[in-house]
Amino acid sequence: MAATNKLLLTFAICRLIVTVGLTLDPAELLRLGVDGQLSVDPSDVEIASLDFGLLSRAEPMAVLHPASAEDIARLVRAAYNSARGFTVSARGHGHSINGQAQTSNGVVVEMSSARRSQLGRGKPDPPQVSAKEMHVDVWGGELWIDVLRSTLEYGLAPKSWTDYLYLSVGGTLSNAGISGQAFNHGPQISNVHELDVVTGKGEILTCSQEQNSELFHAVLGGLGQFGIITRARIALGPAPQRVRWIRVLYSSFSSFTTDQEYLISLYGNPSTQKFDYVEGFVIVDEGLINNWRSSFFSPRNPVKISSIDANGGVLYCLEITKNYDDSTLDNIDQEVESLLKKLNFIPSSVFTTDLPYVDFLDRVHKAELKLRSKGLWDVPHPWLNLFVPKSRIADFDNGVFKGILGNKTSGPILIYPMNRNKWDQRTSVVTPDEDVFYLVALLRSALDNGEDTQTLDYLSNQNRQILRFCDDAGINVKQYLPHYTTEKDWVDHFGDKWSQFYRNKMEFDPRRILATGQRIFMPSF
Ligand code: FAD
Repeated sequence: MAATNKLLLTFAICRLIVTVGLTLDPAELLRLGVDGQLSVDPSDVEIASLDFGLLSRAEPMAVLHPASAEDIARLVRAAYNSARGFTVSARGHGHSINGQAQTSNGVVVEMSSARRSQLGRGKPDPPQVSAKEMHVDVWGGELWIDVLRSTLEYGLAPKSWTDYLYLSVGGTLSNAGISGQAFNHGPQISNVHELDVVTGKGEILTCSQEQNSELFHAVLGGLGQFGIITRARIALGPAPQRVRWIRVLYSSFSSFTTDQEYLISLYGNPSTQKFDYVEGFVIVDEGLINNWRSSFFSPRNPVKISSIDANGGVLYCLEITKNYDDSTLDNIDQEVESLLKKLNFIPSSVFTTDLPYVDFLDRVHKAELKLRSKGLWDVPHPWLNLFVPKSRIADFDNGVFKGILGNKTSGPILIYPMNRNKWDQRTSVVTPDEDVFYLVALLRSALDNGEDTQTLDYLSNQNRQILRFCDDAGINVKQYLPHYTTEKDWVDHFGDKWSQFYRNKMEFDPRRILATGQRIFMPSF
């Protein structure tokens, strides 16, 4: 180990000992001999203390930039075996909202290769594509944008996505990973063949449907509770070249949801004509025209949203795409036309664009750059994501979109349905107990611009009102990217899955040292 690295490590250990009174033998930690870097550099600590939500802050004692899975295993073993113990939290790209990747009495493992590249340290394991087996092996901290870039070299791509690609593989697989392809391919956790995981005991285990299957299912959607994903084998398919991207408007919520549900019912059979992506969003005010997902409604579009009669002030926008390439170029117009014919949108409201597949997948990053340039990205994000059962989505519309929200949203509100049979019920993730359920994502930014309806207090209070409304109306929503602070709430959230979740915790992380930022379990020291 280089002398400077050794010095930094000694400093880190001293800080750990002083701050939490650990009874660790410094020589023992020095003998860990990590190939990466255990850092107490203030800029590393500062980054690990925060996340995208900017709602909470927790300073770790140190940050590990691992060079390999073995580095992570050494650290976790030290935490597991030490007399007093300390916590270990993997941090993907820190895009959580409520401090889920933070820890204040332990070490944050900085998984993302992006950060390592900035530090000039390269990647632990670059993506390995097997074109023959149609899969890619990636480091758990790899960002999806880099997974895409590496697979495209082989004309291949993952099948299921998130709307935004600057998220880590381990981070999205710890939740579910959803976007408009989920109705057809399932969430990202349904498109993984195999994982390498460092458990809370510091063992490195390979797991899949066949091998260590309990760990495999526990980790998928497991909120980081059972182990740190260091490698994921992800299923691939042929990458399309181009995308026809269409938006159409509705003033009737029931026509909108009928059409969405019809479109997602066409999943499965590859020979059935269907769209490749089905999402949607709610427009409660014309502010949407200026917000971060609306560049699509450009001034060049012939139809003005304001000219459309919004029944009750709320419009719904269905967003669909059809992939194509040179070999299907001749049929694309006809295929889109025949699918659109079956829908009941406002006839004058068809907005169409055409773009390369990569540009479509990376669309939110463009919006990010715009917001960054205006200083509107690094602001608090009191986001609320809910899975709403299909049978109650109309009640949700009446109570929330047409009720609680008023006519100002402070950010996009996504709404789209998914098929539950594409979700493996053996994984840790929880969904409503109906064949079809909706994602409703209130993706709002709090601003200090003098407008009462945009403050963090106002939006957080509105989120609480929405949850209370669902509770009072008996709408059994499940939070996606859940955030609770009491054990009772977590037990309610997991419902029938709680006892298995608890057993898995005792089996794979018995000292409860991993991902304490989720606030599900207290460490046992
Ligand atoms: P982090 O926030 O760093 O970590 C999240 C949790 O996972 C933490 O508990 C952490 O300890 C744990 N974790 C991280 N890495 C690992 C690992 N390797 N092994 C085990 N546990 C780990 N989600 C969607 O599903 N669809 C979307 O379209 C979508 N769009 C988004 C757009 C934006 C702009 C943002 C900010 C978020 C979006 N998300 C979306 C949410 C995103 O999936 C979550 O934030 C998720 O946590 C991934 O972020 P991350 O990689 O930064 O993970």
